Amino acid sequence: MAEALQSADIAIVGGGLVGMALALALRQQGIAAEIFEARQRSSALADQRILALSHGSRQILESLGVWSAISSTPIKTIHVSQQGGLGRACMTAVEQGVPALGHVAAASSIAAALDAAVATAKIVYREGRRVEQTHGTASGINLECAGDVIPTRLVVYAEGAIAADTAAVVRDYGQDAVICTARAELLSPNVAYERFTPQGPLALLPYAGQLAVVYTCPADQAVVLANLPDADFLARLQTHFGSRLTFLSVSPRQVFPLVLRYRKSPVATRCVWLGNAAQTLHPVAGQGFNLALRDVWELSRILAGAADPGAASVLSRYAAARRCDRRGVIGFTDGLIRVFGNPNPLLRHARGLGLMAMDLLPPLRGFIARRMMYGARAWP
Ligand SMILES: Cc1cc2nc3c(=O)[nH]c(=O)nc-3n(C[C@H](O)[C@H](O)[C@H](O)COP(=O)(O)OP(=O)(O)OC[C@H]3O[C@@H](n4cnc5c(N)ncnc54)[C@H](O)[C@@H]3O)c2cc1C
Repeated sequence: MAEALQSADIAIVGGGLVGMALALALRQQGIAAEIFEARQRSSALADQRILALSHGSRQILESLGVWSAISSTPIKTIHVSQQGGLGRACMTAVEQGVPALGHVAAASSIAAALDAAVATAKIVYREGRRVEQTHGTASGINLECAGDVIPTRLVVYAEGAIAADTAAVVRDYGQDAVICTARAELLSPNVAYERFTPQGPLALLPYAGQLAVVYTCPADQAVVLANLPDADFLARLQTHFGSRLTFLSVSPRQVFPLVLRYRKSPVATRCVWLGNAAQTLHPVAGQGFNLALRDVWELSRILAGAADPGAASVLSRYAAARRCDRRGVIGFTDGLIRVFGNPNPLLRHARGLGLMAMDLLPPLRGFIARRMMYGARAWP
């Protein structure tokens, strides 16, 4: 085994959006951390996902000093409906007393802003360095990476996924997401649509005068759907969404498998898992990165006052602080898929009533809007 080369108090595994955000948040607290990224540094800039960011995420990105470098489109109205059933609900920024319910931004734009800030702050970013394993020692934990052994006191995993062989709770929805952008006629520039269909939810996010499409479908149909000629995919999208919008063109498509997978606990001896590495969610409510940013924020706050960042008492404080938000978002997202994905006609009527109730009852709308904007921070 190779000799120890260098020592970082906190090692972040994964230099994607979440890893970089954490490194910046820690730096603001005066804490040095090093990032270990398996791929080339520029890989995060090629992420084609377009993300809905909550109002709370905007506040976190502002305080990290990167928001002004991210190009984004505000969401002022969210329109929720179900295919083949009554009821629809609208949430507006005006009613909630905020400038926007959220914002839509390309993951590549967020990555570029974070990457520039990481470079400016001179945070150590080791690219092409896959962390293979970790081993506990008497006073810390060793990281094994490309033949080197690196001693550290805390390993934070921001690796964007939970390996299939990890002990985790898993719910496979049998669905994939086909993503692309679309142009539509007479588009209101700031309206997001969430349409629940028996095949899975269809989300349309306003983005730079176009719509970012997340088209959920049964997993065995996704590749065929994604590879349809543009005109055929356009026709399928139009039928699937209905006549509220007229689609004009679509971009090439990409497929993402959808599964709910979460670790029962986001901490273990001298290790913390953040964001998708702790919980990988269905993107139905656009909550994965938003939840991850709240993980980042809380961890940086808790580590600020800690003499030993990997101490068991520090990590259990973090796990306790994140419990309510984590459980709430996992349950909310999973519940949406199960309730709205059930084809039972009685349930369809019940859902219609639920949507009508949401439309008629401002406090209910406000409760849901606040949860989507801030996570558990908005809970009474
Ligand atoms: C279709 C779809 C739509 C989505 N929409 C939304 C949305 O609207 N809103 C929202 O909030 N979220 C959304 N999400 C979730 C969001 O995309 C993710 O939460 C976010 O991109 C994850 O960022 P990350 O940094 O955790 O992971 P990644 O971007 O995957 O980065 C992880 C990094 O870790 C590196 N890595 C992995 N293993 C190692 C290792 N052993 N050693 C070193 N490096 C390693 C990888 O190379 C990678 O660069 C969506 C997800 C999908 C699939």
